[in-house]
Amino acid sequence: MSHTIDVPISYQQDYRIHIGNNLWDQITEFCAGRYSPRRAFAVVDEKVYRLHADRISAGLNSYFDQVGTYVVPEGEKSKSSTQWQQVVDFVLEQGAERGTPLFAVGGGVTGDLAGFAASSALRGLPLVHLPTSLLAMVDSSIGGKTGINHKVGKNLVGAFYQPDAVFADTRFLETLEKQEWINGLSEILKYGAIHSPEIFETASELVSGAGFQPTEKWTDLIAQSASIKVEIVEEDTLEAGVRAFLNFGHTFAHAIEKEAGYGKISHGQAVFAGMIAAVYASTQLGAHINSTRFETFKPLYPIKLYELVPQMDKLIRAMKTDKKVKDGNIRLILLDEWGSPYIYPCEDTGLIEAAWSFAYKQFS
Ligand code: NAD
Repeated sequence: MSHTIDVPISYQQDYRIHIGNNLWDQITEFCAGRYSPRRAFAVVDEKVYRLHADRISAGLNSYFDQVGTYVVPEGEKSKSSTQWQQVVDFVLEQGAERGTPLFAVGGGVTGDLAGFAASSALRGLPLVHLPTSLLAMVDSSIGGKTGINHKVGKNLVGAFYQPDAVFADTRFLETLEKQEWINGLSEILKYGAIHSPEIFETASELVSGAGFQPTEKWTDLIAQSASIKVEIVEEDTLEAGVRAFLNFGHTFAHAIEKEAGYGKISHGQAVFAGMIAAVYASTQLGAHINSTRFETFKPLYPIKLYELVPQMDKLIRAMKTDKKVKDGNIRLILLDEWGSPYIYPCEDTGLIEAAWSFAYKQFS
């Protein structure tokens, strides 16, 4: 079964997210109703290209006469000004016009990079996301954030730029490595914590049952997760309020990633540890919840916090310099109860220290 979710951005503009197994007919139909068949661009993750080039080119060439393909080297380092420049050079030198669509085919790295290139070349080319990692399907392809990293920090250069459509074809997940499924799973569990606690049970059944295969039940869970992100982003397109809830666990996670050194721990692993710290901080402020809901998933996250960051005070310092700090306060996303998040401007580093101590014990 496939799912569609409508994403209203304003009364003038909306787009649709399609989620299902093998969506090429729907992609062709969408393109035929929207774009000239003359030309399109595909910006494709290197590994995805290696594994799926035939399907991608057959799919896009079934409608477009010419498809210019730019292959993005795999990995976070590609979210760079150099890669952005090369994508823009490529599309301009190949004669992009204002209406030439650009397809971003890959995980969050390719989506963020290609999305930013689409937002800036000719002041905006039509963008279509074809997310291929679990994380990109449930998170990064939704919400319009695009961008690249800067030497000062991650995601510091970019634009809010909405796509014309998102097609999450779960067939791509057949080749996704287990570690990348686990990365995406952290964001799914986040939706469980901040919105729909029943996700914990569904995810637990999937992990212990079918495992990491794109079954119909996984497709349903991806669609449920995407709808939650849509619901939150729809309320707060430019991240002025409730969108911050999506950062549950992330302020802690960013500190681990930064202090361990980017690449030493995956984002998903750091988010999992960060969520455990955030649940603990919530309980210290009176919430009657505990981290047992996360326990089932702990074996998937063999994190050694002491080895990654031996000095806890470095993590606290890193949190104070997070870009989401406001008026000097660390803005934590905490829970009143499962499914009920709130923003807590934290003046008390004692609370943060206690949360880290708990996380260090959990991941020793
Ligand atoms: P990624 O794009 O690096 O993909 C992870 C790995 O999976 C890569 O090695 C890639 O080659 C591989 N891969 C992707 N699809 C595959 C497939 N179908 N088969 C086999 N391998 C495949 O990373 P990611 O986890 O998808 O995304 C992380 C990025 O997303 C980060 O840069 C993060 O900042 C960004 N992000 C953006 C937003 C947003 O709102 N824009 C939200 C969350 C994360």
